[in-house]
Amino acid sequence: MERVALFPGSFDPFTLGHEDIVRRGLSLFDKVVVGVGHNSKKKRYFPIETMLDYIRQTFDGENRIEVITYDELTAELAKRYKANYLLRGLRNTTDFEYENSISQVNRYLNTELETVFLITSPSYAHINSSIIREVHRYGGDVEAFLPYKL
Ligand code: ADP
Repeated sequence: MERVALFPGSFDPFTLGHEDIVRRGLSLFDKVVVGVGHNSKKKRYFPIETMLDYIRQTFDGENRIEVITYDELTAELAKRYKANYLLRGLRNTTDFEYENSISQVNRYLNTELETVFLITSPSYAHINSSIIREVHRYGGDVEAFLPYKL
């Protein structure tokens, strides 16, 4: 059976840290589906369609990566894409606290779903989408944190 992993997130914006998790995920899974979610709690800074284009551009020519948007429960989306794994990145204990509860809920909603965590590569551990948004909002240069040109 094909091993499909879903990498869900807000990706507002998608960073070098996210790209690293996807590429490393390819050594574990046959296919990685990057799901750009409409987060009910947050209004996006970068429009979702624009971010979709940037992520597709980042993985251009890589036929084992699919990039989609979604507006439903992650556990349901995983079923639709026949993904038995959720891929997530861990940077620190703050990520762990959040990821721990969310992975328990996802497994409750979809018993087939296993969450797989990859520890961030040290060179990307400091990269944080919300700080990038703040820097960009006030005109700072954020290109060094992104795998594409804005
Ligand atoms: P969410 O809103 O679902 O937390 P994010 O876009 O902030 O979505 O993050 C998606 C996933 O990527 C999360 O698992 C997060 O911990 C992980 N992540 C975020 N930044 C990095 C990074 N610099 N290196 C590795 N993983 C990261």
